[in-house]
Amino acid sequence: MNENGEKSVVQSIVEQLIENVSKNENSQSFSANKAVVGYVYSEQLLKCVSCLPKVKGRALLVDGLIRAFGLHSKMKLLLPVAATDCEMRSFHSEEYLNYIRRVTQQIASNSEFFADDGENDFGLSYDCAPIPHLYEIVSQIAGSSLRAAKAIVSQDCKIAINWFGGWHHAHRDEASGFCYVNDIVLAILYLLSNGYKRILYIDLDLHHGDGVEAAFAHSSKVMTVSLHKHEVGFFPGTGGIKDNGFNNINVPLKDGIDDETYVCLFKKVIQIVKSRFDADAVICQCGGDTLVGDPFDCFNLTLHGIGNCVQLLISSFDTPFIFFGGGGYNILNVSRLWTYLTSIILGVHINNQIPDHSNFLLYRPSYELHIEKSSRKNLNDSSYLNSLLNTLSDSNY
Ligand SMILES: [Zn+2]
Repeated sequence: MNENGEKSVVQSIVEQLIENVSKNENSQSFSANKAVVGYVYSEQLLKCVSCLPKVKGRALLVDGLIRAFGLHSKMKLLLPVAATDCEMRSFHSEEYLNYIRRVTQQIASNSEFFADDGENDFGLSYDCAPIPHLYEIVSQIAGSSLRAAKAIVSQDCKIAINWFGGWHHAHRDEASGFCYVNDIVLAILYLLSNGYKRILYIDLDLHHGDGVEAAFAHSSKVMTVSLHKHEVGFFPGTGGIKDNGFNNINVPLKDGIDDETYVCLFKKVIQIVKSRFDADAVICQCGGDTLVGDPFDCFNLTLHGIGNCVQLLISSFDTPFIFFGGGGYNILNVSRLWTYLTSIILGVHINNQIPDHSNFLLYRPSYELHIEKSSRKNLNDSSYLNSLLNTLSDSNY
C-alpha cells in the first residue's frame, strides 16, 4: 500500500500473478479426497508376505516406495494381528487348516515335507508348494485383510488399503494359483456378519477371480465382477462369458488390451453393475499382472489405465472401499502401480521421478514411476468388444 492506503500497480500485478499460479496448481492437481484412508501394515506382515516364493521381496519394495513418496504419513496406520483359527474357519475348512499346521510342523522338524501316498494334499504342491512358516504366513495374511474389514466396520476409515492381501484363487479347502488363503472372502464375510448387506467385488487381476466368485456363487448379497484374460489352457480356466449369472459378471479378454480399451470397457461394465446392484461396500482386487512388462506378457496396461479405473470406482460409489493387491510378477512395476494407486486413492499428486531411497537403484534405467505401453497388437477388436457388451447387458440374466 502507498501512504494513501492504495495498492500500487506493482502490488496488483504481483497479486494477480499469485492468483493465476494457484489457479493453475489447482487445475493440475487431483481433487483432494477427504475420506480417511487406512493402510494395513506391520513389519511381521511384510516379512511373511515377502517370503512367498512367487513374489519374494515384493511387499518390502511396495511399502518402501509408498514410504519414499511420503504417502505413509497421509494415511491412518492399521496394525494387523494374525487371524485365529476360528476366524479363518469362517471360510476355510478345519481339515485344510489342520493340514497346513501339520505341514508347517513337519517342515520345521525335518526341513523337508512329503505328502503321504494317496493323501489329499489340499492343493499344497506345484504352484502352492509347502514352504517354511506357512501357518504363520497364512494367519498373518488372513489377519491383515480382517484388519481392513474391521476398520471399515468400526468406521475408523472410509477406505482401507491392503496391498499385501488379495489372494483370490484359494478355495475353502484347497490352495490354488499361488494363493494359500482367501483373505478377500474372509474380509467380505466379516463385513456381511457386521451389518453390510450388499457387497460389490471387482477383480482387476489378469486371472479370473475364481475363488471369490465360487465362495459367493449362491449368495444374493455379493456381486462379483472379474475382468481377466480368458483363453483355452490359461489358468484357472473359468470366467468365460457363458459362466455369467445375475450376480457374477465375467469379462473375458484377449491379449494386448491397452489402457484406452480397458478403461472404456470398465466404464460400461460399471454402468451395468450400477443398474443391477445397489452396493453398500465395494471391494477391489488390483492385481498387477495386467501391466505391460509382466512375465505373463498378456495385457498392455500402464499405471494410468488401472489408475483411471480406480478413480472411476471411487467417484461412482459413495460407499466404504477396501483395495487389495493380488498378482503381479514384475515386482518393480507392481510397486510402481500400488504406489500410484495409493496416491489416486488419497487424491494427491506425486511426481514421476522416483525419490531417493534405499531401493532407488533398482528402478533403473528410467528411475521414473510411470511405464510405457508396448507396440503389441490389441486382439480385442471392436466386433469382439461389442458382442461382449451385448451379452453382458443382456437383461435376461
Ligand atoms: Zn493373476
